[in-house]
Formats: sequence, structure tokens, C-alpha cells
Amino acid sequence: MNHKYICIECKRESESDFFKLKCEESDYSCFDIKYYENNANFPVLPSPLAIKSLGEGSTPVVRFKDKFPEIGDFIFKLEYFSPTGSFKDRGTSLLLSKAKESGVKEFVEDSSGNAGASMSAYAKNLGMKCHIFVPEQTPLNKKNQVKIFGGELHNIAGPRQNSTVAAKEFCNKTGIPYVSHNYNPYFIEGMKSFAYEIYEEFNEKITDIVIPVGNGSLLIGAYKGFNELKGLGLIKRIPKLHCIQMEGFSPIYNKFNNLDWKFNPSSKTLAGGIAVSDPPRINQVVDCIKRSSSECEVVSEDKTLSWHREIANWGILSEITCAAALAGVEKLLDKRVIGKDSNVLVPITGSGLKDLSNVKF
Ligand SMILES: [Zn+2]
Repeated sequence: MNHKYICIECKRESESDFFKLKCEESDYSCFDIKYYENNANFPVLPSPLAIKSLGEGSTPVVRFKDKFPEIGDFIFKLEYFSPTGSFKDRGTSLLLSKAKESGVKEFVEDSSGNAGASMSAYAKNLGMKCHIFVPEQTPLNKKNQVKIFGGELHNIAGPRQNSTVAAKEFCNKTGIPYVSHNYNPYFIEGMKSFAYEIYEEFNEKITDIVIPVGNGSLLIGAYKGFNELKGLGLIKRIPKLHCIQMEGFSPIYNKFNNLDWKFNPSSKTLAGGIAVSDPPRINQVVDCIKRSSSECEVVSEDKTLSWHREIANWGILSEITCAAALAGVEKLLDKRVIGKDSNVLVPITGSGLKDLSNVKF
């Protein structure tokens, strides 16, 4: 074992335990993976040979510099080129490989759709049964993805948070383990490959990455990945990792700006992937934003939908969620956070084929 757990709040260290999702010392807080300092190997978990891959990662990049002449360079990383059409596959491959190694045969997960589809695919491949709790309003294609891979779909009425509550209740009732991608730290470790690939492709050229954030796994994973590269002496600075949230779903934005946060259950958005009111790693996300000297912005539904249509004019069909990042780019540009000296990368996190039903033509 080359790592242990460290609580993201009280910083107490403990032996890693796949089934332990929360620190008993500080109520509600998640664990992070900490590697032993004299670990000679590149810190990847489990060993790359043990990871069950379905072909995730190594996603293509496309330049759209001509679309933003005010910015130094502008690049999309097409994360929807993944086995199940979203960036979640990076984390899932590691999380469920570790689950298999830990003897899991059946598990429970909750998701706005993409993670559920991803977990179902990898679970099927690894011979595990899964129960996926999703909000009722999850796009039909995401639900059908869960079903075709044999995942048992549980439709839960109300906002996204209700699916988490229902999943936990189901676990308590049945004793089936909760393998939550939002709580379990191995999922975040899988996300680090996003940073490694940007380094491999661009070295230190990228100055700003603009990320749509719900629970923040991609932003945390990117920070950890770049931080490791810095620790290894391969890069001198970590790119800025700007966090974009929706109006009405902005707990991280509020925390970052020391504003009170109270979720209004009547809030609605078509950016379902980031419609998160209560992210368990909120302090960790805010910490990563601050440590990388980045910004946090909220964007409107109207701007998000118009950017979704705009990038379709460039030949890019993303899910609505990641168009929020484009609205974020516009805002960061207006505020002169980015400009001529910036080389900006936006991850196109999920395929538009998953929720075409919400697109107005
Ligand atoms: Zn703790």
C-alpha cells in the first residue's frame, strides 16, 4: 500500500478503507488520498496494470482560437470521447477497480445521470450489480444508458439532493455498500489523468482551465494532478482552475465569497450535471480554487443555453451542463481575468447526445 487516508477537514490520517466514506472525528467530512513521501513510483492508484479500463482518457483537443480573438489561445478538450460519453469514466475506472479489489459484488450510487451511466458500464464489465439513484427529471438517454448496462434504476422525485438521501436510506435498509463517487476518494484519484494529459499535450502552455462545477470532482482531481506534476518538478506553476456554477445552484461560489448559502428548492436548471445544492467536498473545492489563485463565477440559464447553441454552430454538441463553462469564459473575459496573455482550455464534459430532448430548435 503506497497511500493512506487523510480527512479533508480535521487532517487526521488513517489506514485507507474502501468502505469508510466519512471521518468519524469531524462529522460529514470526506477523505483524501495521501501518498507516503518516499514512494518512488508515480503516484497512481491502484497500479496502472490493475485498472480495468474501457478506453477512458486520452481525449482529443480542438483549437478554437478564431472564436475568441481577445484570448491568447482557446482550446476544447473533448471529454465526451469516453466509453459512456462523459468525463466521469476517468474516475469510475479507478473507483470500481478498487471496489473489485475490495470484494464488492453489489453497490449503490446516486447521480444526476452521467456518473450513474458510467458506473453501470464499468460495473457490468467487472461483474458487479449496481443500484443507481437518479432524479426523476434526468434525461431519458442517461437513464437508458444505466438500464442497458444492467444497472437497477431508482427514479427519485424532487431535486438532486433527494437522490442522495434515498440512496443512503436504501443502503441502511439493505446493507448494500454505498460506493458514492462524490464521497469515495478513489474517484478523485482517477480524475487526475485529466491534468497529466494536459501536461503531456501542452507542457506549461495552458494558463487557465474553466470548469463547470457541481460536486467538483474534476476541479479537485485536476488540482491534485497538477500539484503532483509540480511536486515532481515537471511544471513550475499550476494553471488557474476557474469554477463556474449556475445561479440558484451556487454553494461553492457563495462559500468562496463568504456569502450565506441556502438552497431554494424551486430553483431549476437544464444544466443538470451541476445542479448540486450540497456538495460534500465543498471546502476542498474552495481550497483548490484558492490555492491555484483562480476565480469562481455564477452564470445564468439564458447565457448557458445560448452558448450551448453557439458551440453547436462550431460543430460541437455538448450537454447543456458544460455550456455553463462557456458562459463563464465570457464573464472572465469581461472582468479581464483572462485576456491576450491567457491560453484557455475548457473541458467539454459530456455528450449532447445524452440530452437532446431538452434542446430547443
Ligand atoms: Zn476529520
